Amino acid sequence: MWIALPEYSHPALPLNRAGVGEERFDVARIEVEGLSRRFGSFAAIEGVNLRVDDGDFLVLLGPSGCGKSTLLRMIAGLIPPSDGRILLDGRDITHAPPRERDLAMVFQSYALYPHLTVERNIGFPLRARRVRRAEAARRVADVAKMLDLSELLHRRPRELSGGQRQRVALGRALVRDPGAFLMDEPLSNLDAKLRTATRAEITDLHRQLGSTFVYVTHDQVEAMTMATRVALLNRGRLEQVGAPTEVYDTPGSVFVAGFLGSPPMNLLDARLARRPGAAHAVADGVDARLELPADVPERPVILGIRPEHLRVVPADVPGAGPAAGDAAGDAAGADAVALRGTVSLVENLGSEEVAHCEVGPARICVRAARPIGLRAGETVALAVRPEHTHLFDPDSGRRLTWRPDSAPAVDTTAKPVPVTAAAPPPVPADPSTPAPRSEPRLSPARSTRSST
Ligand code: ATP
Repeated sequence: MWIALPEYSHPALPLNRAGVGEERFDVARIEVEGLSRRFGSFAAIEGVNLRVDDGDFLVLLGPSGCGKSTLLRMIAGLIPPSDGRILLDGRDITHAPPRERDLAMVFQSYALYPHLTVERNIGFPLRARRVRRAEAARRVADVAKMLDLSELLHRRPRELSGGQRQRVALGRALVRDPGAFLMDEPLSNLDAKLRTATRAEITDLHRQLGSTFVYVTHDQVEAMTMATRVALLNRGRLEQVGAPTEVYDTPGSVFVAGFLGSPPMNLLDARLARRPGAAHAVADGVDARLELPADVPERPVILGIRPEHLRVVPADVPGAGPAAGDAAGDAAGADAVALRGTVSLVENLGSEEVAHCEVGPARICVRAARPIGLRAGETVALAVRPEHTHLFDPDSGRRLTWRPDSAPAVDTTAKPVPVTAAAPPPVPADPSTPAPRSEPRLSPARSTRSST
């Protein structure tokens, strides 16, 4: 029986929803429906559907120019959409000016007033809203305490470090007590060490406030460590939305597989081939057993394997390509050789090493604890467990789903049913046993270009 991956729902956050002082922060749900933004004939954002739930920490992730900032700025009201709607707690705010949106934006550039003290920078939004002086002073003091800025209230921005300036920018957003925080690469001006520390502070802040955060970055480490959900954008379109573990473990497309991970997933052109006991993915130097029955129709695929899922094994184990000869198809154990190649380079990352290898025409990476035990120029045999293989359609780039024609339809509207995560039906151990009447079908998973 096939089992669809359960639809992701983020766990209830163990949050202290009390905000600054005795106040409680409101939280907000943001919905984006069919949102597009064109600049002339160029579509920076195209038909994006996205829901950010109350208390979510949603990270918009993708390469430079994919449209992350454009999407965030439309939510903030800084640029108008060409098409589509934006809802805040069900209220249509598509054409509302920024000040009516109850959203606070934190920019990469901090955007502090250089002539104002920290205290006046943080309190600026309250003065603009004519909050009573005593009340404003209390809120600024509370926020400063929360962000560890109490000792710095009388300094000016030029007298602060980058991390302190970023905290002042955060404070200025916090003091407004907004429904949601919108952050555009707020850490990119910080050095690596400060980035790590501030990353943890923002995550902690989110847990304390329980507020909704939408956070733009091109840094996958920020996305994986901070987000409750990650939305991956590619050329203005949503590729996949899910929890960090979900998008990493079951990437919905070649783009997602090749974007996440360091090094990213190895992707090899291959063909599905029938072998006794299970289907294999085969190519020059590749013969990898899959979690698929032996009788799936042969077809071209892209085989994906994460570098950390490849293990160096003795070269004389059967399996994988020309060196293995006839034994290739019989190798079924966890240590059966799936790939054979030549090491071209070994990189020392400190605690780990990455070996770059040539397998047929492909270049792949293997990541393991140091010492990995490989040297440039030597031949290498690699094993991978069938459950750690991923298949993608070479034409569409989408993750492939297998289900026999006879099986009841599985609703895959929200999530693909990954070949690697689903239990295959019982397979006859003896290849002479007649195949099931209906041919199983391997088809691209439906697009996950919607979070709902
Ligand atoms: P980065 O990570 O580099 O900031 P991004 O993913 O945030 O990139 P955007 O700034 O949203 O990308 O830009 C998306 C695309 O829209 C880019 O190709 C950019 O050149 C284009 N673009 C953005 N603003 C304008 C504009 N005002 N006029 C024309 N093109 C624009």
